[in-house]
Amino acid sequence: MSNDAGHRHDSPATLNNITVEQALRIILGVMRPVGTEAVPVAKALGRVLAADIRAGADHPPRDNSAMDGYGLDGAGSPALPARLRIAGTVFAGGSHHVAPGPGEAVKIMTGAPIPRGVDRVVPFEEASERDGHALITRLPAQGMHIRRQGEDFKKGEILISKGRTVRPAETAVLAALGKTMVKVFRRPRVAVLATGDELVPAGKPLGRGKIRDSNSPALAASVLACGAEPVILGIGRDSVADLKRKMIRGLASDALIVAGGVSAGEADYGRDALHAIGGRLVFFKVRQRPGHPLAFGRAKGRPVFILPGNPVSAMLTFHIYVRPALLAMGGARDAAPMPVPAELGEEIRGKAGRTEFLRVRLQERDGRTLAFLTGPQGSGILTSMVRADGYIVLPEEADRLPQGTILPVHPL
Ligand code: AMP
Ligand code: MG
Repeated sequence: MSNDAGHRHDSPATLNNITVEQALRIILGVMRPVGTEAVPVAKALGRVLAADIRAGADHPPRDNSAMDGYGLDGAGSPALPARLRIAGTVFAGGSHHVAPGPGEAVKIMTGAPIPRGVDRVVPFEEASERDGHALITRLPAQGMHIRRQGEDFKKGEILISKGRTVRPAETAVLAALGKTMVKVFRRPRVAVLATGDELVPAGKPLGRGKIRDSNSPALAASVLACGAEPVILGIGRDSVADLKRKMIRGLASDALIVAGGVSAGEADYGRDALHAIGGRLVFFKVRQRPGHPLAFGRAKGRPVFILPGNPVSAMLTFHIYVRPALLAMGGARDAAPMPVPAELGEEIRGKAGRTEFLRVRLQERDGRTLAFLTGPQGSGILTSMVRADGYIVLPEEADRLPQGTILPVHPL
């Protein structure tokens, strides 16, 4: 690892030109959950549980019917067809209990508690009724159509573990346990700062030589998609003083993302500004494409990501590095979306000595999943991201992958 960053504020401790794996290890090694809070179960969707969820009681709480039908005691194997007097009806939620005696059945509705003396339920569809009697021609096996107490879960069991994200299914379990509040990890607040004298936000006239700021909205959306809370700082000018002022504001959040001003250009002040706010540059440059000039540092105990300004580089480096970091800060356990295996529909060429992230779209053909490049892969080509189902990785040691190679596609 050389240290040829060649920048006035990169200390000798700054790692330079490292691998993707090193960069990820360094970043994830310093991420800690930002804290916890209690929220109503009804508002917990998408939040990450901060404690194991344990059953306080059996579910279902007692035996109940799985069908609308006739409950009877079939243990004595009554001769078929059997004509059983209906002793009464039990409803779900009702407190009226009837127990059938010999030669009797009860009418029972789905969810109603199983009365004493009933060992199976004959669905209405499989029987008939006349003059207050049920006519049974076929007897289901013992226990049929009865949902047993605790068959879903038993008191004391851990049902959902800490670090899981609440989906509708988890909401159902929390509600079934009678919980109103649940302990979750606090959503990390993440400041987003776009930089560049050429940038103009939507709604303002676009002067000569100017371009729209797409990174602020794209990164704010990326932050939201991680379950974190974006704080948009606006557009930083290409000066250390302005970046410094805005980055200090960003340190009121739990993490700071700066986009742009991190290459070797003459107006790239991101690292100077990090130094000026008392921060420390941990690494600069990763052997990858896109996103080579990625920088990571710390200031006032906060992680600071300085992403390349090119919109594709900014979004991809966010996805690869910032996303898992924010998920870890938010306490989430399952960080990486499951890759999908696919077959390369075309040959891929690259350069050895750097990891390349190539955007692909997937196509089903004759039962096979084929991956094709989304077209030009330049780091300013926004449409290469819009068309993408995911990205593939051309590892550092490879400079080509032949058509037909089976490889994982990482969903975007
Ligand atoms: P930089 O990393 O600042 O050298 O920027 C690299 C390229 O990305 C330049 O062409 C910039 O104009 C462009 N760029 C930087 N920031 C943004 C942004 N927020 N929105 C759109 N393009 C940007
Ligand atoms: Mg710039």
